[in-house]
Amino acid sequence: MLQTLKTYFGYDSFRPLQEEIIRHILDGNDALVLMPTGGGKSICYQLPALLREGTAVVVSPLISLMKDQVEALCANGISAGALNSSNDETENAALRRACMEGRLKLLYISPEKLLAEANYLLRDMHISLFAIDEAHCISQWGHDFRPEYAQMGILHQQFPHVPIIALTATADKITREDIIRQLHLNHPRTFISSFDRPNLTVKRGYQQKEKSKTILDFIARHPGESGIIYCMSRSKTESVAQMLQKQGIRTAVYHAGLSPSLRDEAQDDFINDRVQVVCATIAFGMGIDKSNVRWVIHYNLPKSIESFYQEIGRAGRDGLPSDTLLFYSLADLILLTKFATESGQQNINLEKLQRMQ
Ligand code: ADP
Repeated sequence: MLQTLKTYFGYDSFRPLQEEIIRHILDGNDALVLMPTGGGKSICYQLPALLREGTAVVVSPLISLMKDQVEALCANGISAGALNSSNDETENAALRRACMEGRLKLLYISPEKLLAEANYLLRDMHISLFAIDEAHCISQWGHDFRPEYAQMGILHQQFPHVPIIALTATADKITREDIIRQLHLNHPRTFISSFDRPNLTVKRGYQQKEKSKTILDFIARHPGESGIIYCMSRSKTESVAQMLQKQGIRTAVYHAGLSPSLRDEAQDDFINDRVQVVCATIAFGMGIDKSNVRWVIHYNLPKSIESFYQEIGRAGRDGLPSDTLLFYSLADLILLTKFATESGQQNINLEKLQRMQ
């Protein structure tokens, strides 16, 4: 194992849990792996894929992510390919042939294609293991439920002897149990690596004045560093921005009530460091890829652990340490309870809020 790790990936040692997980899969067992983003989940199925006979089938929801992975693998001398709707037919035909002839170590595939091929290509190839990436997408309890993931349970029924490894960076206990149940994992072991995050600070029950003072102190400890302040309402983004501007901190506002051109301008100013801070509703951040965001403040309680996790994840994409601060109060809870009650999925959203609380 170590030799393969060194030869193909250039690493000298495993990170915590990687070795145990890989052994478990090599022995033909099922596993659920929970590791933070950047924790090193890929090796947990890529190494077994190299060491087991046949082709590993990796289900991944994002075509861009698949492409990155396949390119990285090929650059390391590992035969890998991605079967998805963005390929042209010749490409897909060549890939199919490579799979059937056992020339591929890893095949990345979208969930839709996987289901479509379950009775065709998958039957004609020797599968070493299934890896389900972003496995939280299978569960309504997860933060990014995808209906096409919900039928993935057929894998264990149709291929009972192929081990399954499900991987995610974000799944609480209910979601984990749901993933295991829906995939029909067989005596799975759940591996949870450390999520201890000393850079997450939480403050309860602060009044507006205390919040403002704490925010200013916080920003003073991050001179010139980019950050996002998430607020629950549009008016709050504006009042917090004014408070900061008064102190000479370059701040933009971003929310769905602004015109598209104003929103683009705010985003552009932030990305290019013309403003230091953006006060935003949750609408901000989905499309931006700014690597040097150093901190995220939640002015109010987020509606779920999953949104919290996603929003703080907008800091530190460059891998450098980043800081977060979360305020919450009874008033937030009352308002969020109202939103959840009025939402289409009342039970789930109230439950998520309760777990956040
Ligand atoms: P995840 O999928 O959990 O977000 P990745 O699998 O992409 O994380 O790994 C994150 C980074 O850590 C990658 O750059 C990867 O090459 C690196 N990495 C993984 N395992 C090891 C290891 N054993 N030693 C050194 N670096 C590693």
